[in-house]
Amino acid sequence: MAGEGIRGARARRRRMIARDQTTIVNVGYRSTHYWVVSAGRSRLLVDIGYPGTMGLMLASLERKDVPLGEIRYALATHYHLDHAGLAQEMKLAGVPLLVLDTQVAAIPRMRDVMKPADRYVAITMHDNVVTSSAESRALLERIGIAGEILSTPGHSDDSVSLLLDDGSVFTGDLTPPWLATDAQAAAVQASWDLLRARGAKTVYPAHGPIRRLQR
Ligand SMILES: [Zn+2]
Repeated sequence: MAGEGIRGARARRRRMIARDQTTIVNVGYRSTHYWVVSAGRSRLLVDIGYPGTMGLMLASLERKDVPLGEIRYALATHYHLDHAGLAQEMKLAGVPLLVLDTQVAAIPRMRDVMKPADRYVAITMHDNVVTSSAESRALLERIGIAGEILSTPGHSDDSVSLLLDDGSVFTGDLTPPWLATDAQAAAVQASWDLLRARGAKTVYPAHGPIRRLQR
């Protein structure tokens, strides 16, 4: 294309490929969505099941034709039991746990809220893939996914969102502004403002319907 140059054309083509190939599938259960973002056969699991439900998760992945061996990373939007309950078992099954540096401190706290009946397997700390928001784009690019991971506190300090370049954003439990308590309101608003500024358009929450992000 005139004026664009080969570099620009290549970059544009790369963006188109990324957009064309990225698919989103819900493998959730018990009113919680677990999203699989796929670039062809390279996949990222966003949110990682209730503790003690590995059988349910594996059955759900199979039902949706997602081979466990194709999941390159699992990412918890935050370390609450319905979002990171299977993180360790997924690691033991061969899926590395991707952690944003702002989440590290929250991981050991999972243990404190679990009861024996939950059958929670505690997450080990030495073998996680820890990245920063700034480094996340390059990391995701290596598995064919165009996007970034942003720190979006409000529901909890360790909450993050996965934002794809096509505007799809996986927000976990980030509270809608109209439901935020007074104590949360400022952080919640700042997180939504950040997502909007970065181009978020379609919200894939962990609970409830997919929705357009209000401008
Ligand atoms: Zn939560």
